[in-house]
Amino acid sequence: MTTLYGTLLDPRTAAECSVIPKAIVRFAKDGKITEVTQGPTRDEDVVGDDHCWILPGFIDAHLHLPQWDRRGLDGPSLSAWLDRTVYPAEARFRDARLAERLAEEFVTGLIDCGTTTAAVFGSPFREATDIAFEVFRRRGFRVICGMMLNDVNCPEGLQVPADIALNDSRALAAKWDGANNGLLRYAFSPRMATCCSEQMLRGSAELAAMMNCYIMTHVAESPAEEVEIRERFPDRLDDVELFADMGLLTSRTLLGHGVCLTDSLRRQVAEAGSAVVHCPTANLFLESGLMDYVAHRRAGVPIALGSSIAAGHDPFMPHVAVSCLQTAKTLKVHAMPRGQHTVPAPEEAWWLLTRGAAAALRLSDRIGSITPGLDADCLVCRPEPWIAELPPQQQVSALLYTLRPDQIEHVFVAGRRLGPTVATR
Ligand SMILES: [Zn+2]
Repeated sequence: MTTLYGTLLDPRTAAECSVIPKAIVRFAKDGKITEVTQGPTRDEDVVGDDHCWILPGFIDAHLHLPQWDRRGLDGPSLSAWLDRTVYPAEARFRDARLAERLAEEFVTGLIDCGTTTAAVFGSPFREATDIAFEVFRRRGFRVICGMMLNDVNCPEGLQVPADIALNDSRALAAKWDGANNGLLRYAFSPRMATCCSEQMLRGSAELAAMMNCYIMTHVAESPAEEVEIRERFPDRLDDVELFADMGLLTSRTLLGHGVCLTDSLRRQVAEAGSAVVHCPTANLFLESGLMDYVAHRRAGVPIALGSSIAAGHDPFMPHVAVSCLQTAKTLKVHAMPRGQHTVPAPEEAWWLLTRGAAAALRLSDRIGSITPGLDADCLVCRPEPWIAELPPQQQVSALLYTLRPDQIEHVFVAGRRLGPTVATR
């Protein structure tokens, strides 16, 4: 039995985030939360104190393992970024030792940032993806992950023919989906419409349906990409129509970015139950555009947030959530007539990082909040002390904007303490 003590932040809905002082959270050896209560505790070996906060772990729903050590390389647009940064970074993953070292650094970096669940694109190589899963298993980390799939329109060294790539993915899914007590899930991961043959897209959808796995890809990321899609698939209107035809729009599909989706496409995605992963830092970094988060929510699209490493430079998810609010504020500032646009509140940002993301990822039965019966994915933090003196609503805001990774003292996934790592302290 482990006992946590502190002020509990509980994002209940997009509009409501409770602050519960003197909270006691207990979880059992099996990693499940058994009790959430309030009051002084007489337990021995309590983790936390009156100055600590207990938070649900953060969920990062879109990032790329091979790009971990390529963050912050500013300059190019999406297609130049792929050519200059992304493809060379992935090509290195033929080297199994490098693949293992970077997977270790990646997991360490995410744990140190309080991320307890990540949806991760791997490299286009079976062995490196297998190694990544092995590292995730060893470290006790929770992921949805898959081998990157592309067989056209990218460097030859990264292309894997559809029949081989799908067979490799099927073997990886059979080995890893549901492994380590369900902490590991597999995602068939076609990179994007322009880099995949129809055989690859359709095959991914069929295997994901057959094996009850996730699908991860990129959609409507930038205006230039939209033009490319129309050139490559002249008889299709857009990548949403293409993905729908291929069977890729499912309730276990995570669509990265969605910057250029129109209202009717948002509704189509919402009807399919597919999630859009909003990556606000990356959308600005690559100058892809300002995604209209509020319009997505209005259309009923399930949404999570993604650091989009390394098009996003910052793996600390509260910063990504602040960027989501700032993107909405930018749209509001520029709206005509001025100001006719809503901006989500900090309460909604916390919900997006936790319970809302878990719902979008169809993982609400396991994670997303600190509730008895769910897995104990939680953080114990020590934010700046003045926050405790504010009224609760201001605490919710101040904590979002000022929390730092070095204030996270404990990171638990399914009740097991994973970090932060000593090396970074
Ligand atoms: Zn991406």
